[in-house]
Amino acid sequence: MGQQSTGQLDTVMQESRVFPPTAEASARARIKSMAEYQKLWDEAAADPAGFWAKLAKEELHWFEPFTQALKWNEPHAEWFVDGKTNASYNCLDKHVAEGRGDRVALIWEGEPGEKRQYTYAELLREVSKFANVLKSLGTQQGDVVSIYMPLTPELVIAMLACARIGAIHSVIFAGFSSEAIADRNNDAKAKIQITADAGYRRGTVLALKQTVDAALAKSPTVEKCIVFSRVNEAVHMQEGRDFWWHKLMAEASDDCPATPLDSEATLFILYTSGSTGKPKGIRHTTAGYNLFAKKTFEWVFDWQENDVYWCTADCGWVTGHTYVTYGPLSAGATVLLYEGAPNYPHEGRFWELIERYHVTLFYTAPTAIRAFMKWGDHHVEKYDLSSLRVLGTVGEGINPEAWMWYHRKIGAERCPIVDTWWQTETGGIMMSPLPGATPTKPGSCTMPLPGVIPQIVDSTGAEVDATHGGWLTIAHPWPGMLRGIWGDEERYKEVYWEKVPGKYLAGDNARRDADGYYWIMGRIDDVLNVSGHRLSTIEIESALVSHPSVAEAAAVGRPDPLKGEAVAVFVTLRGAEPSEELRKELIKHVRNQIGALAQPDDVRFTGTLPKTRSGKIMRRLLRDIAAGKETVGDTTTLEDYSVLAQLRTEDE
Ligand code: ATP
Ligand code: MG
Repeated sequence: MGQQSTGQLDTVMQESRVFPPTAEASARARIKSMAEYQKLWDEAAADPAGFWAKLAKEELHWFEPFTQALKWNEPHAEWFVDGKTNASYNCLDKHVAEGRGDRVALIWEGEPGEKRQYTYAELLREVSKFANVLKSLGTQQGDVVSIYMPLTPELVIAMLACARIGAIHSVIFAGFSSEAIADRNNDAKAKIQITADAGYRRGTVLALKQTVDAALAKSPTVEKCIVFSRVNEAVHMQEGRDFWWHKLMAEASDDCPATPLDSEATLFILYTSGSTGKPKGIRHTTAGYNLFAKKTFEWVFDWQENDVYWCTADCGWVTGHTYVTYGPLSAGATVLLYEGAPNYPHEGRFWELIERYHVTLFYTAPTAIRAFMKWGDHHVEKYDLSSLRVLGTVGEGINPEAWMWYHRKIGAERCPIVDTWWQTETGGIMMSPLPGATPTKPGSCTMPLPGVIPQIVDSTGAEVDATHGGWLTIAHPWPGMLRGIWGDEERYKEVYWEKVPGKYLAGDNARRDADGYYWIMGRIDDVLNVSGHRLSTIEIESALVSHPSVAEAAAVGRPDPLKGEAVAVFVTLRGAEPSEELRKELIKHVRNQIGALAQPDDVRFTGTLPKTRSGKIMRRLLRDIAAGKETVGDTTTLEDYSVLAQLRTEDE
């Protein structure tokens, strides 16, 4: 944005379809109408601290009550001051104490097909035992525990065991390299490492301990390493440093009361996806995060007691923290965990699982939905998906074309879709439809949740005519907000609080339409400026994806002497071959859909797009390629390095 542009494009995003919630969805929902939503939102906005304080008293267990809802000393927030609670207690003991111990907490299926299940009472015992294991190896309150594990119940057990004794977990997705682990371990000063011998991915065995060994050689702060035997692989065990999970667990007591922790005790550190640069170690604390995770889970998925909930994210991402672990478990939900890939041993694997476990609430990412579309509808049609009730998406904007496919093919036109906008930093969902209340529009995350106050501003911090779009900020602190970047106070201030004083700067551009609906337009850094007009990446991409031959698209700006920036697009195809004719057709298609200004100057066909391991398109890398430059930024979170080389050769 920087300077005000000379003109705005009013015609962007022509989406006008609206899908009201079904009468059935509204009848059973917690929040049944827009009037109810609006009342709750207004009440929260009038006194956010009071609103959250009331919920905190009702929803969390307090060893000691808090004395003040919010202490705000910009940019530092303290929520529920002087209170003592414990996230592991709220996820486990609370349910057992209140008579829900026999309810199923976790259902797990491994990639090769093993099945396991834990009730809340069983999970509490396992977590207590592992908390004692951590203590027996010298783990103390405030120590950082680095976790690099496949998606097994043991990963959740490890996280909750840390929370139980006040140790800080730093989960690293079990696909990252030894350098990425070592970087994060050193940044966080991790003391304990937890890993597994190996994991499964698409039928192959992925060595994990071996990668960790290489990382630990460069992680001087790590003293001990616990190894879970997932695959039964022979691994190197270093005497005095490495210990088998099962051996320690066999000797551990299952009695380990949860430590009463200060509301602001750090619960975890989690590194961001690295879409825009070097990952940041985001710090979240106990009470506020826990409350925000629980309430947003209940509101957004309209969770009810007999639901079977499945979020396909790995615990290596924030979605796996808030909506696999802390949110649903604090609510007392039954959570499905699946270890493997969506296309192993076949492309219908997810739908098979939904049928088998009668999943009612399903939460996944747009990148997965685009892959399902590409693989073909016949994989879906074989399975009974009638148990489904609510569908969610997270991670990127969802192209309306993909939204419609999700709505028709997976939701049978009856399941509300919740497009949830949030970030590692926000701790939980900030904007989303509510299944029983909000009429949805494909591609819009609709409206803020109660207690969340977004504002669209220009670079001076002044509110702008939001229909044209601007910087998305949050005007009041909320309980789930990050408390800092681990070890980098300056970067925390600079990235989120300095450009627009007094408000949290999300780093995304957004606009609000005449109905008050929010549309995320892409990252601030990614917005294109063509002859003084700001164009949103997602809108150009959505126009391309609406063409029947296009599977995925990424739009970036390329320096242009005349226009400032020219539009370059990278396109992957489905059921079509690259051709000059198709290139021309796509240019025309975007022109028809959006307007002449958005018409791509450069269309490049490619087999794949560079993505983070969490599945987000890394436009900054494509920007370098479009400009013919070498990549200088951090690429440690890139999913597949060969993609860059391939794109460069295609370039020549
Ligand atoms: P980094 O901050 O390191 O560049 P990242 O921003 O990708 O990485 P995350 O915290 O995982 O790390 O992602 C948050 C971002 O994902 C948001 O800022 C937004 O750009 C995008 N996003 C998430 N959900 C949505 C959504 N529903 N619609 C549009 N964009 C979304
Ligand atoms: Mg980010």
